[in-house]
Amino acid sequence: MKKHKFYLYPHIYFSKVDDGKLLLYSTISNLFIENNSPVCCELIDEIYKPENLGVIDLTDKFLNNRIVTDFINQIVEQNFGKLIDFKPNMPKLINLLPILNLQDDIDRLKQDQERDIGENALNYLNELNIYLNNQCNLDCSYCDCYYKQTKSCYKDIKNAYFQPDKIKEILDSLTYSSLKKINFLGGNLFLYPFLNELIELLKEYNFDFHYWIHIENLSNNNPDFDQNKDIVVNFPVNIELVKQYIGTHKDDKKSTYHFLIENDSQYNEVESIVKATGIDNYQITPVYTGNNLSFFEENIYLEKEDIFATLIPHRIIFCNQKLNSNHFGKLSILSDGDAKANMNTPAIGNIYNNSILELIATELNKNTAWRVIRDKKPCNQCLYQYLCPSPSSYETVIDKPNLCHVKA
Ligand code: SF4
Ligand code: SF4
Repeated sequence: MKKHKFYLYPHIYFSKVDDGKLLLYSTISNLFIENNSPVCCELIDEIYKPENLGVIDLTDKFLNNRIVTDFINQIVEQNFGKLIDFKPNMPKLINLLPILNLQDDIDRLKQDQERDIGENALNYLNELNIYLNNQCNLDCSYCDCYYKQTKSCYKDIKNAYFQPDKIKEILDSLTYSSLKKINFLGGNLFLYPFLNELIELLKEYNFDFHYWIHIENLSNNNPDFDQNKDIVVNFPVNIELVKQYIGTHKDDKKSTYHFLIENDSQYNEVESIVKATGIDNYQITPVYTGNNLSFFEENIYLEKEDIFATLIPHRIIFCNQKLNSNHFGKLSILSDGDAKANMNTPAIGNIYNNSILELIATELNKNTAWRVIRDKKPCNQCLYQYLCPSPSSYETVIDKPNLCHVKA
């Protein structure tokens, strides 16, 4: 090989692990190159040294190594990088490689005494869940499992509920925020003693309100509210009654059905409901009950092909390095006022003592959920650490940091 300069294109993401394995991933073509040779890792490390400004001279050390030259040829062929013939007196080349530099990076905010961590913090909130009450007369077997994994009702022996004036105070405090979606959950919302007052109150606001109701708590005598209904359907369920309900409410464009399934046969039951009713306004959510790990291992755990099934833009990879995309911006306020950034984590305050802004600032500082990333074993020793989606509540309830077949 002649003398060359060599660089990687800015759309290439690079990761490596301690034993010298490396991954180059194209955030444009979704192609990747893996290599196990420490000398190739050294080559790419050189490119990322700040003093090299993203471009290196290929020295004899690299040019005389067949493993490296094969690797470079592969990079050039796949359009991951470029070789340039060296010419005497050629100007210094600069290749601006993307680096993580979030302007509002929380760690830097903490260091910056001039700025307050609460500044603009309300704008981080993108979804608020308010549990109006916790009473319900049904007796679902896994009531204490669902809400820890997805949005769902749950009941509690504490008979707590929100006063409408507190809800008004919360809504007023968010009027000028960028928050759109507010979910109301229970218990059974129809046992909430101020439901009619709440329905009237919400008419004064422009948020996107959603009521979460279990299908068996719906009846013909329910108060009429012109808001989105998110209808929870778990199993076992009377399939014929569900079909009948959906069939008679087919024109209700504001309803979404949330089927919580534990195994393949429940999945098949949902399919039969969907086929019989022709609905498309539904979601299927797997739930872990403590007894169905094999269902998760077969259907939810990631394979390497799943990680690369769709293009992962650089923006998402950077996000995964700093934020938890499942939890960030979501706040839940329970019927006793306790506030949580995730239903599996300790309360970060209480709405009767703390404003929403204070709760957000506390979460940004304490990081119970919003910035939990894949920085622990085994993910921090995996090439796909930040290509994988952020940890979800499933990892917490299954008590395993990686739900994948890539690493044991
Ligand atoms: S309907 Fe909801 S709150 Fe009631 S028992 Fe079932 S899961 Fe729990
Ligand atoms: S070990 Fe972690 S980062 Fe690696 S594939 Fe599994 S879940 Fe993803």
